[in-house]
Amino acid sequence: ARKFFVGGNFKMNGTIESVKAIAKNLSEAQLDPNVDVVIAPPTLYLLLVREHLKPGLEVAAQNVFDKPNGAFTGEISVLQLKDSGINWTILGHSERRTILGESDEVVASKTKFATEGGVGVIWCCGESLEEREAGQTIAVIEKQLAAVAAKIGDWSKVVIAYEPIWAIGTGKVATVQQAQEVHEAIRKWLKANVNDKVAEETRILYGGSVNGKNCKELAKEKDIDGFLVGGASLKPEFVDIINSNL
Ligand code: 13P
Repeated sequence: ARKFFVGGNFKMNGTIESVKAIAKNLSEAQLDPNVDVVIAPPTLYLLLVREHLKPGLEVAAQNVFDKPNGAFTGEISVLQLKDSGINWTILGHSERRTILGESDEVVASKTKFATEGGVGVIWCCGESLEEREAGQTIAVIEKQLAAVAAKIGDWSKVVIAYEPIWAIGTGKVATVQQAQEVHEAIRKWLKANVNDKVAEETRILYGGSVNGKNCKELAKEKDIDGFLVGGASLKPEFVDIINSNL
């Protein structure tokens, strides 16, 4: 069985005080021991958050660059993450794809660099409202998957997050059926284009307006193995989302 996974993406939110408080609260909360918990504060606070988290809870960067080191102003490397005890990164979030212009290929290249450097990747995919309404949802996601599958060999360090763009930060969560349908399609694609083992073992998270109330129903679905949470990861209800299966 796949271990449930809940990620918290703080995006560009928080202060020293607030992220420290979140880390402390999480460390003191009663969390389902059968869940991998990974929180992603802004880069500036990665080490601080790690310091205040109890062992077993992990920290993720929100992005990482696809070069080992050098003249890349403003970027951070996989080696620097490893050096700092940061074992995860989010990659390919729709905000980076749309606002920062990262292509499928750039995201795939970063995913290759991170996994080969021993950093786990929460790899995001998802369609826009326009694409959904045009009936292109699965095609868009398959194109994103194909780009990454062409570059990486080791899927053991990858967790997939399906995040429909129209559901992010809108309060408009995908229905249980909409999410399950895409998750199942992703697993089928992995089976057909990678292999049975990767299809069976890769965790597929849902992200987009997940909260303490809607998480339980979603968590029951066969192909939903956890969540990537934005806004609610900054609030006490994040604990309820981690504990979706209790
Ligand atoms: P919200 O949970 O705020 O909708 O954000 C989802 C998300 O983008 C997580 O990466």
